Amino acid sequence: MKFFFDFERPELAELLQPAFRAAQIYKSVYQHWSSDFESMTDLPKALRTSLAAEWNIQPLSIHRRFDSSDGTRRYLVRLADGEMAETVFIPEEHRNTICISSQIGCALACTFCLTGQLGLVRNLTAGEIVAQVLIAQRDNLVWEARDSFNIVLMGMGEPLHNYDNVMKGLRILHDEHGMNMSMSRITLSTAGLLPAIERLATESTIPNLAISLTGASNEKRNELMPVNRKYPIEQLLAAVRRFPIKHRQRVTFEYVLLRGVTDSPEDALHLVKLLQGIRAKVNLIPLNEAEELGYRRPSPAAVERFQQILIDHHISAFVRKNRGNDISAACGQLKKKWADEPIAAAL
Ligand code: SAH
Repeated sequence: MKFFFDFERPELAELLQPAFRAAQIYKSVYQHWSSDFESMTDLPKALRTSLAAEWNIQPLSIHRRFDSSDGTRRYLVRLADGEMAETVFIPEEHRNTICISSQIGCALACTFCLTGQLGLVRNLTAGEIVAQVLIAQRDNLVWEARDSFNIVLMGMGEPLHNYDNVMKGLRILHDEHGMNMSMSRITLSTAGLLPAIERLATESTIPNLAISLTGASNEKRNELMPVNRKYPIEQLLAAVRRFPIKHRQRVTFEYVLLRGVTDSPEDALHLVKLLQGIRAKVNLIPLNEAEELGYRRPSPAAVERFQQILIDHHISAFVRKNRGNDISAACGQLKKKWADEPIAAAL
């Protein structure tokens, strides 16, 4: 069986003549949420039968769902080979966020991130990336609100390390005959894979860019994010300065505040200096602590002091709310640990 969500519409059109069939099926699956061919009554009966024998149009199944007291939901999505992708739905009053994974595990080994401790297990396919969005959308949004969400590629993995599948997934989500998701509602977050950022800048469809900085000097960043040893901070920021940013858009910088490591006023001033001349928005993320990590979260006063220094220097700075902490769904907490999680917490 072919997994429908792995296919871009032009690929589908090549396999299924006449070409308009691909648009019809895309519309049924992505706009009408059809999950069987029988209901696609705009297709000839014989075609429906032959398609059903060849194509799997069931988005993947939910292995477990964890519900946070703040409304955040974390999903373990079962993949064909038994691996699990982690997906998070974060409800907000005016805008919901679906946070998807691009890989199982991650190769980058940032020292403050639990996913980094797994190493890379494997890349997700385009279809596995797309299906995570559909699962979170369909499980949380009523029909009238079906489009009221943004997507962030901030789950497990480094999206630019799985470049081709991620970009293919985004093109599928963006297709006008399918979900028709605007690129301005998608944010891709990277730890700073420089050549891939440069390649991204040349694409015809470009999502919003977020850079995980966490460390405002090479010395700090080399220690916290080994990727910096290969692509130093000044080169990274030079690439960001060249990146095409649409009118009124900004590049987001995520900065994890680690007590005594990245949270001093001096660090804040370094950050101010680094971001000069960039249309930037800074998301400060007080560390989500975990036993396995050798770092502490700063005091609220230190977080506020850091934020104030940025604001005083005319940089928009927000403190990221800590969502889904009680279900291990918060930033940096996604880690393959379903095996030992109590069944009672599940659906
Ligand atoms: N690999 C990509 C996508 C993952 S985004 C990237 O690094 O951008 C996950 C975000 O969570 C990153 O901004 C990362 O800096 C942050 N993060 C990682 N571990 C964290 C922790 N323990 N507490 C808070 N934020 C963390």
